[in-house]
Amino acid sequence: MIVVSKFGGSSMKDHEAMLRSAAISKKQNASITLVSATYGTTDQLHELVDLAVEGKWNECEKKLFTVRERHFDILQNLTNDQLVGERLRELLNNLETLTRGIFLLGECSEKAKDRMVSFGERLSSLLFAEALKMTWPDMVVEHFDSRKILKTNSQYGKAKPNITKIRNNCEAYFKLGGKTTYVGQGYIGSDDEDFTTTLGRGGSDYSAALFAEGVKADVLEIWTDVAGIATTDPRICEQAQPIHEISYNEAGEMAQYGAKILHASTLVPAMRERIPVFVGSSYAADEKGTWIREAVADKPLVRAIAKRSNQALLTIRTPKMMNSFGFMGRIFDVFTNNEISVDCVSTSEISVAISTDEANLKNSKLTSKFI
Ligand code: ADP
Ligand code: ASP
Ligand code: MG
Repeated sequence: MIVVSKFGGSSMKDHEAMLRSAAISKKQNASITLVSATYGTTDQLHELVDLAVEGKWNECEKKLFTVRERHFDILQNLTNDQLVGERLRELLNNLETLTRGIFLLGECSEKAKDRMVSFGERLSSLLFAEALKMTWPDMVVEHFDSRKILKTNSQYGKAKPNITKIRNNCEAYFKLGGKTTYVGQGYIGSDDEDFTTTLGRGGSDYSAALFAEGVKADVLEIWTDVAGIATTDPRICEQAQPIHEISYNEAGEMAQYGAKILHASTLVPAMRERIPVFVGSSYAADEKGTWIREAVADKPLVRAIAKRSNQALLTIRTPKMMNSFGFMGRIFDVFTNNEISVDCVSTSEISVAISTDEANLKNSKLTSKFI
């Protein structure tokens, strides 16, 4: 049985969280474990980029110090292996050098930003591999670089995976079912020229699903800080009820409409290979959690409520729409050509209102078409 497990940032918070997660990997006999950056680190790396661009070197140093301390603190609580210490130091030094480069230039391309934020997962996975070695001594723990396997296009910041290449790389690289268990990074990949890419915020879930598809896993496990999917975000609404079983379509729609528990694209690869997905809490691994499958018996009228933040509403209003044809087609062509996903649409005789992620407004090619 091939199990691919993914642990999110809160499951990588400190050495205790890492050891707890490692114990789950062992108990579940995970073949491949992917991890997110330690809690809050990806946000801090994004802030670091902004500070460097703004020329605030003192602030950059403070931020680098925080990141360094957090990771060395985990290391010291896990192992005194000199070699791992050196590898951690090397990664942190590279991060500092890159930050310095951005500071000196006073600008940062999306490509360089992906390289910067990739350090989060590269640091955490190095430490988690140590936690797993301690927890599972009878296995060979191989720490691998996900960028060698998860090939994408060059859309930095939100790269699209190349499924065929990922499958081929998975087949060539992993020797599953034996004495080796693999630890890699969620969220990051690389393009055809081997430049680092990322799958977008929260993308580690998606990475895990792509690896699960690539190795034709029997189960994909997403371990987070809540015991599965609930009827709404339990952090916002304490009456949220657990959902023990949900279909791919329903869970996918929840994710698409903002339920942060899963990255919006996670279920697409799982559905292609019909891999059942389990969502559970790394803090309470014995709780029931949620199984996401093709079909479920229970079909309530309303399954769940999701909240999506940071949305922009674009309203296109013109009397030219009245009694004309082809107008809608032209509007949606603009979104298609700019590869932008449209969420909700409402129309009247002379206007169309469209909601999309606020971040899409940064796409000047899109907005200039409407101005
Ligand atoms: P991770 O770091 O493990 O990827 P995330 O913070 O990305 O964790 O996702 C887990 C969070 O998703 C939960 O803490 C919860 O606040 C939020 N969430 C949003 N909607 C739901 C829901 N319907 N059911 C459960 N959790 C939800
Ligand atoms: N570390 C990345 C983020 O915070 C990816 C992830 O955690 O899924 O967005
Ligand atoms: Mg997440």
